[in-house]
Amino acid sequence: MTSTPDGSVDYPLCATPDPGGWQEVVSGVLWIRLSLPFQLDHINVWALDGGAAGWTLVDCGLGDPRSRAVWKGLLRDALGGRPVERVVATHFHPDHIGAAAWLVERTGAGFATSLTEWLFARTLSAGNDAAADAVVERFYRRCGLDEEVLASLLARKGAYSRGVPAVPATLTRLRAGDRLRVGDRDWTVIGGSGHTAEPVSLHRPADAAGPDLLISGDQILPRISPNISVWPSEPDADPLADYLASLEGWSALPADTLVLPSHGRPFHGLHRRAGDLARHHAERLAEIETLCAEPQTAAAVTRALFPRPLDPQQMLFAVGEAVAHLNHLIGKGRLERLAGRHDGMPAADLYRRPDVTGPA
Ligand SMILES: [Zn+2]
Repeated sequence: MTSTPDGSVDYPLCATPDPGGWQEVVSGVLWIRLSLPFQLDHINVWALDGGAAGWTLVDCGLGDPRSRAVWKGLLRDALGGRPVERVVATHFHPDHIGAAAWLVERTGAGFATSLTEWLFARTLSAGNDAAADAVVERFYRRCGLDEEVLASLLARKGAYSRGVPAVPATLTRLRAGDRLRVGDRDWTVIGGSGHTAEPVSLHRPADAAGPDLLISGDQILPRISPNISVWPSEPDADPLADYLASLEGWSALPADTLVLPSHGRPFHGLHRRAGDLARHHAERLAEIETLCAEPQTAAAVTRALFPRPLDPQQMLFAVGEAVAHLNHLIGKGRLERLAGRHDGMPAADLYRRPDVTGPA
């Protein structure tokens, strides 16, 4: 969710589709753009032409009435009224999976994603119980958020199921290394982790008809650093370690791969971009380590990393991202956590460098 300079990438396509519009990227691969009612105002959806078997759609926008109306036009016009063989979700976030259940129901398509992403979506869409709500409040109190921010975060309850009113009840499970047949071409499932637990990317090797293609989901984006967050349900997780390992993994693909990201525009420069993002996180880690010469709460670290005003959704991502970096530093032995005292509701945890002693 952080803007990072995109100077290391090239954009080979001149035009960008308008919201609700589309264009062909290479033969048989359509770039569809849908608008989103967030600060991040669009998502790219990819339609892969499978010939007689029908289209494979990769990601599908929110499950709200506006998206459904746009999809009705797209099914008719962009996809020519031909069948949809399957809907693939790269991960469980609402802008990617929201309309999947409706599309599957309407077109008779199959649904495919990784098991973990599907389970997350099913669980979150079903809503929280009281115990889960208490865990959420406890987590953000331990982060040291003030009452006003805490209240605005807790008021977002149910946001997921508004963007994802239903999740397909069955799936074709995708695992790293699986082949997905689309027409007479194979796409290989690339695994990874970090932005979510088990996102799916798809790679198609170069051939006479076109270059290497990578549908990257949110795992690598040209202009923004994908959000890497710790969430209340797994407070000690280190998703940044997973993400940094995934960034290294892109070196296995050819340097001139054309990357089709979920946000922004198709780009060249996969290896350089992965290097930039790794450096971005290394700089953040160093910045936090310096800050924690004095004991800090996660809220104070969040304000230092994200000084601009944040709406409640952005605040969730920002706090989660701060804790992801703090947990990573703890895992590396570069920081320690001093648990807040718990009499009734927890007080905030403090983070400090182990080499700096003194009262906390
Ligand atoms: Zn996402």
